[in-house]
Amino acid sequence: MSASSGRTERGEGPLVVPADLMRTRLASVLGGRTADAMRKGLGLETVEDLLRHYPRRYAERGELTDLRTLTEGEQVTVLAEVRQVTVRPMRNRRGTILEAVVTDGRDSMSLTFFNQKWREGQLRVGRSGLFAGQVSVFRGQLQLTHPEFELLPDGVDDDPLAVLAFAGALIPIYPASKAVTSWQVHKAVDVVLDQLADPPDPIPEDVRTGRDLLPLADAIRGVHRPTTREDVRSAVDRLRFEEAFTLQVLLAQRRAEVMALPATRRVPATSPLLEAFDARLPFTLTEGQRDVAGVIEEDMGRDYPMHRLLQGDVGSGKTVVALRAMLRVVDAGGQAALLAPTEVLAGQHYRSITALLGPLADGGRLGSDDNSTRVALLTGSQRTAQRRRELLDIVSGDAGIVVGTHALIQENVDFHDLALVVVDEQHRFGVEQRAALSAKSRDGSRPHVLVMTATPIPRTVAMTVFGDVDVSTLSELPAGRAPIVTHVVVAREQPAHVARVWQRVREEVDAGHRVFVVCPRIGGDAADDATDGLVSDDAAEPVNPSAAVIPLAQSLAEGELAGLRVGVLHGRLSGDEKDDVMRRFSDTSIADGIDVMVATTVIEVGVDVPQATTMVIMDADRFGISQLHQLRGRVGRGGLPGLCLLVTDAETGSPARERLDAVASTTDGFALSALDLDLRREGDVLGSSQSGRRSSLRLLEVSRHEDVIIDARAAAVAVIGADPDLVAHPVLAAAVADLVRDEQSEFLEKA
Ligand code: ADP
Ligand code: MG
Repeated sequence: MSASSGRTERGEGPLVVPADLMRTRLASVLGGRTADAMRKGLGLETVEDLLRHYPRRYAERGELTDLRTLTEGEQVTVLAEVRQVTVRPMRNRRGTILEAVVTDGRDSMSLTFFNQKWREGQLRVGRSGLFAGQVSVFRGQLQLTHPEFELLPDGVDDDPLAVLAFAGALIPIYPASKAVTSWQVHKAVDVVLDQLADPPDPIPEDVRTGRDLLPLADAIRGVHRPTTREDVRSAVDRLRFEEAFTLQVLLAQRRAEVMALPATRRVPATSPLLEAFDARLPFTLTEGQRDVAGVIEEDMGRDYPMHRLLQGDVGSGKTVVALRAMLRVVDAGGQAALLAPTEVLAGQHYRSITALLGPLADGGRLGSDDNSTRVALLTGSQRTAQRRRELLDIVSGDAGIVVGTHALIQENVDFHDLALVVVDEQHRFGVEQRAALSAKSRDGSRPHVLVMTATPIPRTVAMTVFGDVDVSTLSELPAGRAPIVTHVVVAREQPAHVARVWQRVREEVDAGHRVFVVCPRIGGDAADDATDGLVSDDAAEPVNPSAAVIPLAQSLAEGELAGLRVGVLHGRLSGDEKDDVMRRFSDTSIADGIDVMVATTVIEVGVDVPQATTMVIMDADRFGISQLHQLRGRVGRGGLPGLCLLVTDAETGSPARERLDAVASTTDGFALSALDLDLRREGDVLGSSQSGRRSSLRLLEVSRHEDVIIDARAAAVAVIGADPDLVAHPVLAAAVADLVRDEQSEFLEKA
């Protein structure tokens, strides 16, 4: 391969370290000082870390960096040519200033060195080199002060190492840091490539050849020592496929593990409870709901656990589908548990399920329907006596349906015969579904698991993060759903509009409706201003009293909304207090009701109050796109048109304002989710940290490489199908084990 042409023999010949070659510590190959610099400067510790530290881009010999693209403050490595060098004495001190002007052929930049007059001999006019440092601007001129630099050989003299490093026509530019320059990385890579044997390839040969992918060793050389752009392209194709493939093998393996678990087929001979429920339903199921129901029935009729994700936009009718599945297993003699992420939601689910079931939830009571069952609620804040009664109903099997928080599974509550676990889960993909699978029913078999999510997940993310799960989607909203209209209200520019917001709230309440006011903070006590798990929160930022629950509720009750019943809901309330507030807000028939609920994002998920028509979101720019979409899904659920007002100070044209405008422009959750994915770094989507730790996905971008993911998935499924334990593929098995061990694969656990 041409890319290996830069390889030169160093006398000693390759140092062959076949076993665990990639895990060899850099110190044993590079020497202590360089290895230290790589570790401290870039976090690279092993041969693999270094070889997988791919160039960010390539400078083409003779093609200089466009200096106009540089911005102040940026850490850069540029390829430029020396045009002029001057040395002058410093004005106020002894010593000299050497100024070199370098150019890209059009624009120029100045390099300054203090007391390094001798560099005059190096920086000769006409030579080009790489210059690295932080860009500053001095008197309108771009400059680097004391840059690190490496001149390209001009064929006359020079350090043999430099010749080696820049022998290729393409000069790799590596992600570098203040302490370690791009060419130091380059030289270290050269040493490693020259001394070590070829690394073994995790991709099986037939997978590779069928796809025309380079062997690993060639790809590694191609990416670090390319001769042509084509070398880079084929190397990157192969390395990117490898990332997708290793991840898909892990997911396929997990899937195979689930399929090997024992489960009980839940196929009722007759379904009296489910039929009675369907007869009671005030609407007909959508086609999508019926399809998914059929798939779930099939899943639960197998002798290995269902492991299915049901995704659908807010209001798409997931809960009804899940409830029908629960009733089906009750008909089959088993029990179903519904796990909610918060106590508020557990309470909400409990109320809405009992309401939907009506008399069918009266099981065991005198005169109740024979087919009825009991719904138990288990929360952490329940009093002991109450809790004991519920636990008894659960262990005896009298309660066919059990609603609780995720703690229900973690605490190992005893079920009579747990057949199905439904997880209503939000932004916490993965953790609970796996925990649910570890629960056991009476005979040691595993429950079927259905995970509901209201965050529409783009297909590629679903395949990447949920590759071990079957995914069903409810894509149509039930007919007759009233539309939600969303407006952005810019507080600073339109104070009159803010006044109008509160007037509008009053009109809604006068019409008998309920209103949510959502704030990013709790407030009241600035010192411990909790935020109820908001994503972005800058502790140093002063509390804006008009966007904090407690002060805002107070000022509204005394001012703009005087006379209305204003309540608060946030994470600092006890479970009982929350339940009480929610009940008074959702029940419009009681005397001590609440008209306007000022709340944090605790209301984000699933809360279903049919009379709620309006939501005002304060400092809306503090929320992400998906979160805003979830939030506004709380209104317009009862056939009444919904209104969502996003109050913000974000300026027109700012990224925050663009996000809000996007949310206001569409109610298509999938479109917003795709936009969100575009706007965020991949890492965030997969839950990998922003702290700069290494990611196992370096070249694969979930939003851009759908075809690669699909292809890799097919290959992975075939490999695991033929050899589930990867006995014949030890290198691949090790790569998968690495991925699991790699902290970054935590994204699978905690994203
Ligand atoms: P999700 O859980 O997906 O947000 P829900 O299951 O809570 O949605 O449904 C939202 C609302 O729509 C509920 O009030 C529910 O009773 C109602 N609903 C569900 N399915 C239908 C349907 N097929 N036709 C009309 N209304 C429906
Ligand atoms: Mg719901």
